[in-house]
Amino acid sequence: MLSNDKSLQLSKRALRKIPGGVNSPVRAWSAVGGTPIFVDSAFGARLVDADGNAFIDYVGSYGPAILGHAHPQVVAAIAEQARKGLGYGATTELEIQLAEKLGAAIASAEKVRLVSSGTEAAMTAIRIARAATGRSAIIKFDGCYHGHSDGLLVRAGSGGMTLAIPNSAGVPQPLAAMTSVARFNSLESVEGCFEANPGSVAAVIIEPVAANMGVVVPMPGFLKELAATARRHGAMLICDEVITGFRLCYGSIAESYGITPDLLVLGKVIGGGMPIGAVAGRADLLDLLAPAGPVYQAGTLSGSPLSVRAGLETLSLLSQPGTYERLEAMGARLAHGLTDALVRSDKSGCVNRVGSLVTLFLGVNNVSDADDARRGDSEAFAAYFHQMLQRGIYLPPSQFEAMFVSLAHSEADIDQTVEAAREALAAA
Ligand SMILES: *Cc1c(COP(=O)(O)O)cnc(C)c1O
Repeated sequence: MLSNDKSLQLSKRALRKIPGGVNSPVRAWSAVGGTPIFVDSAFGARLVDADGNAFIDYVGSYGPAILGHAHPQVVAAIAEQARKGLGYGATTELEIQLAEKLGAAIASAEKVRLVSSGTEAAMTAIRIARAATGRSAIIKFDGCYHGHSDGLLVRAGSGGMTLAIPNSAGVPQPLAAMTSVARFNSLESVEGCFEANPGSVAAVIIEPVAANMGVVVPMPGFLKELAATARRHGAMLICDEVITGFRLCYGSIAESYGITPDLLVLGKVIGGGMPIGAVAGRADLLDLLAPAGPVYQAGTLSGSPLSVRAGLETLSLLSQPGTYERLEAMGARLAHGLTDALVRSDKSGCVNRVGSLVTLFLGVNNVSDADDARRGDSEAFAAYFHQMLQRGIYLPPSQFEAMFVSLAHSEADIDQTVEAAREALAAA
């Protein structure tokens, strides 16, 4: 057994002063049980906990750590920037550079507004879409996550997919009722949502590759048909690429699937590990934002020079040749290895992958929407998670998350992970 005395102590202290002991719920390990490790430090693909245990990390800060942790060039850029002041409440050339860099990589990012989180960015995108269309309703997909703003924190109600109910206490029903919930990969359910809200849908928001119910791949043609359906109904298409942006290709995965979103939501990777979010898209839509237009949006730390420097450095490293080939190769090596481990075990399950996003689902043989994902065996996953932890592999502590492979993961890391999975599946 790993020693975890320090983490146990810290957990007790945290629980006294921090709700649930964490500042974001998934960190509490509710889905897998046990006491979460407290992190001391991380470098490259490795994480070291407060007890001194080292793990190969597949959480990667839930996406931002695509270069690996504490990349020397990113750390140096942040340190250099910090010496010039941490923020000014005034615009810097750096912000222009990041907007230009995003625009150069993503054709539909004609203009960009920076914020401090993906939540804010998604919330702002919805507000812009409502202002642009003069409509209120929105359509989201069951299992897709767009941050924790009221209108997006809803799930499908029973008795049909279209009527949403709050997914959290404190979200007023009338707000939740403005959101319809469709089934990922089902155009029929999207049509159903439009029919239930005739002429009143402002926007459809989607993760083009879903990564917050575990990885779920869009079926061929689904995104193109979705874009056409939204357009036919006069609704904006918002692609939430907080995870996928600059992770699956240098830019937007929606665009590489051949669709042009009206608005894009970015975050995670583009901040290089620092807090960030961005709304990007059609210039006429972004110009609805204050002070150019009537849609209010603001932020004390928006466009933080530290986040922007970290983001610029990260993007310039990612733009080097071979980056996405490498991520694809490492993702494929991991997915093949896990699939093989699964086949050799007595467990049922499947591996979903796009590029460096990988999910092993246990207890279910095919996952193409949130209902499939929920059919997974969460007890088996919890056992597998802890077996992997004991073998020095730190996985996301829920089956409904992606494993994030970074450029710092070596072939040997991947092979060690697969070997651990073989043992863990046998033991779990
Ligand atoms: C993480 C995430 C968000 C929210 O971003 P925060 O920075 O955590 O607020 C929104 N959308 C998607 C797809 C995400 O993965």
